[in-house]
Amino acid sequence: MTNQVRVRYAPSPTGDPHVGNIRTALFSWLYARHTGGKFIVRIEDTDVSRTVEGALESILGALEWLDLDWDEGPKVGGNYGPYVQSERLDLYKDIAEKLVAEGKAYYCYCTPERLRLMREDQTQRKQPPGYDRTCRDLTKTEIEKLAEEQIPHVIRFKFPVDGETSFNDLIRGEVKFSNHTVDDFVMLKSDGYPTYHLANVVDDHLMDITHVLRAEEWLSSTPKHVKIYDALGYNPPLFAHLPLILGPDRSKLSKRHGEVSVLQYRDMGYLPEAMFNFLALLGWSLDDHTELMSISDLIDNFSIERIGKAGAIFSLEKLTWMNGTYIRQMSSSELSTKIKSILDDTLPDNTIRPISLDYINTITPLIHERLKTMSEVTELVDFFFLDIPNYPPEGLIQKGMDEIQTLEALRRTSDELTRVQSWNAEKLENILRPLAEKLEVKTGQLFGSIRVAITGKKATPPLFETMEVLGEDICKKRINDTIASLE
Ligand code: GLU
Repeated sequence: MTNQVRVRYAPSPTGDPHVGNIRTALFSWLYARHTGGKFIVRIEDTDVSRTVEGALESILGALEWLDLDWDEGPKVGGNYGPYVQSERLDLYKDIAEKLVAEGKAYYCYCTPERLRLMREDQTQRKQPPGYDRTCRDLTKTEIEKLAEEQIPHVIRFKFPVDGETSFNDLIRGEVKFSNHTVDDFVMLKSDGYPTYHLANVVDDHLMDITHVLRAEEWLSSTPKHVKIYDALGYNPPLFAHLPLILGPDRSKLSKRHGEVSVLQYRDMGYLPEAMFNFLALLGWSLDDHTELMSISDLIDNFSIERIGKAGAIFSLEKLTWMNGTYIRQMSSSELSTKIKSILDDTLPDNTIRPISLDYINTITPLIHERLKTMSEVTELVDFFFLDIPNYPPEGLIQKGMDEIQTLEALRRTSDELTRVQSWNAEKLENILRPLAEKLEVKTGQLFGSIRVAITGKKATPPLFETMEVLGEDICKKRINDTIASLE
């Protein structure tokens, strides 16, 4: 046993790295970094039928995206490996057999069919589910006979029938379970694989784990683990079961609330810093009001004592707000660099490349304040880089105007633009605002038509700044092209 804190994140590669899952990793990581301890990643892949191809890569990808580096585990190794449970099967088997030899566990020969009938019967009689202990007291001769017949068996743990099992949870205090609510669960399956309960305990012990931070859903498994620790004569680690994550309507978090793979948030253009900050506050808080915290502030201040018991509310709106705030906090040049890489990836192949960073630097100030996620970038600024296809562009004719009026308005605009001496936002506004009056249309109508003519879009960054950045030639050409298409 070391004095150093050793925390682990122990995902099963059975699906996407969801918010709740990665929150566990993040809290564990923060605790390790706060205490100067070690953060270990261990892959719990003992449920072969539930293993999903690619899940492990996605889980590690999510950790990497959030910069949750691990000190030991897949890819990096360490002194306690292997860190993948399917590579440790002999260990679990030996320990399970040892418990059988000591009379603390037993072979169970019940067939799946028998267990199914047992469950059906229990449901019918409204009895609590659980193994009925048929094989718990088989005699030696009975066992020998079954073994001779080569009937497949599992190993079950002899869980005490009476009394209580209690343990201390760092978040919830003393937690007690009546032993009769726990059955003689399987530790080793007939395929030789351990169940989660056995593998988890064995590895937490052998890897010198000091603190187990995990989701609340595992609280009811903990009495099983506590008893396995006892049976093996191991000291259990300290447990902290993290609060549930709920949707804003306080029901269990689901897809409709935003419970999707964390990587989807990456792909939707959320910044890792914002996601980090957001996840850190899902169940932990510094005080009652601080929302924005840098990673180093979080490391400095994180503590298990300030993790709450009550369900934490996941609000997509808050995440999006936080993300916008992080974008606004970025320097203009930092944002330009990010915008460039997005545009490099997303603009069509026939766009003139390389995309100029200097040009982007002139666009960034127009969108910096209004961006909520990085994925909005392309849609918002692509017209700076692309020709507008399909004249007249959709949405050109404003509400309350017809084609003739629009044509007239654009012709007059084109005339007025020839008078502009220095092409900048202020001058453009000074000329075009009075034009609306002369044309007896609302400024919104005139500017709306100009906007669509020049950008092909109804919603864009501010019009005159956009025209300034686009430049005189392009603006005039697009207006004249639109006029021609209407004529
Ligand atoms: N493999 C379990 C999971 O995916 C780990 C639970 C635990 O941390 O003990 O949630």
